[in-house]
Amino acid sequence: KSKEHGKNALHIFTPQMNEKIKRRIQLEEKLHKALENEEFRIFFQPKINIKSGRIEGAEALIRWQNDQGDLVSPGEFISIAEETGLIISIGEWVLEKVCSQVRLWRQQGIDIHVAINLSPRQFRDKELVKKIHRVVSSNGIPADCIALEITEGVVMDDEENAISLLRRFKEIGIRLSMDDFGTGYSSLYYLKQFPIDELKIDRSFVMGIPDKQDSKAITTAIISLAKSLRLETVAEGVETEEQLEFLKRLNCDMVQGYLFSPPIPAEEFTNLVKK
Ligand code: C2E
Ligand code: MG
Ligand code: MG
Ligand code: MG
Repeated sequence: KSKEHGKNALHIFTPQMNEKIKRRIQLEEKLHKALENEEFRIFFQPKINIKSGRIEGAEALIRWQNDQGDLVSPGEFISIAEETGLIISIGEWVLEKVCSQVRLWRQQGIDIHVAINLSPRQFRDKELVKKIHRVVSSNGIPADCIALEITEGVVMDDEENAISLLRRFKEIGIRLSMDDFGTGYSSLYYLKQFPIDELKIDRSFVMGIPDKQDSKAITTAIISLAKSLRLETVAEGVETEEQLEFLKRLNCDMVQGYLFSPPIPAEEFTNLVKK
């Protein structure tokens, strides 16, 4: 950020800053090793059809099982992976894992679609469509078993380019989902142009149900907007029966959250579906 202080700014490194930089570099090295040593795990959180109560899909969420055996959440490492570019390799690993899990589930008669989160850097990867197409085909699974979750910021940054990229995903049959909707700066004009299939209502709004009037108003507005654009709606972070009831009344299509299940390993997910 030194640019903001003009060309001749002095760079002053305080001992605290040194510590911070050191820790970042160490973390970066650890992430490289984590990838090599297969220390990442994928957890799956069920997406439930609100009407039928059935599990129709899952969101794949990465965790890092470090050398102490602790699970590190993506909030602690995705942004660094993004800044260093390592997210491209991590993303490819996630894609491979998810597609092979979908293949295994289909062999067991479990037919669900799984959503993968994409960060901005991955979205700018010129090879992305080809890579996804290749991994989906080599696993012999239908492309519409895979959904990509992208955030508003990623597509609103360069709308025209985003439209053509999203169209290419649709051409190969991939489902598209707008994540954390309502927290970014969506132009409603573009939202209509994007060939997306679903809107995910951000947890921050769901959290405010039933106590906060504005959260309820925003949730209501998002669902009504989605309906008029013929998009499916998914509410994330549903934790209580009251929230579920409220969303049911609004005809929200799908729900996801701790009320049903936290993200869980694949084997547990299999048992949950079979129940
Ligand atoms: P997200 O895509 O918005 O994922 C939803 C987050 O909400 C997940 O956090 C999930 O565990 C959490 N969550 C779900 N239900 C509830 C609930 O009822 N209550 C509460 N308090 N939380 C709930 P998580 O797994 O820590 O992931 C955080 C973010 O990291 C994700 O946000 C996503 O942006 C990113 N991320 C996760 N996996 C990947 C990945 O494989 N690739 C990339 N690029 N990003 C990922
Ligand atoms: Mg997501
Ligand atoms: Mg989300
Ligand atoms: Mg979120």
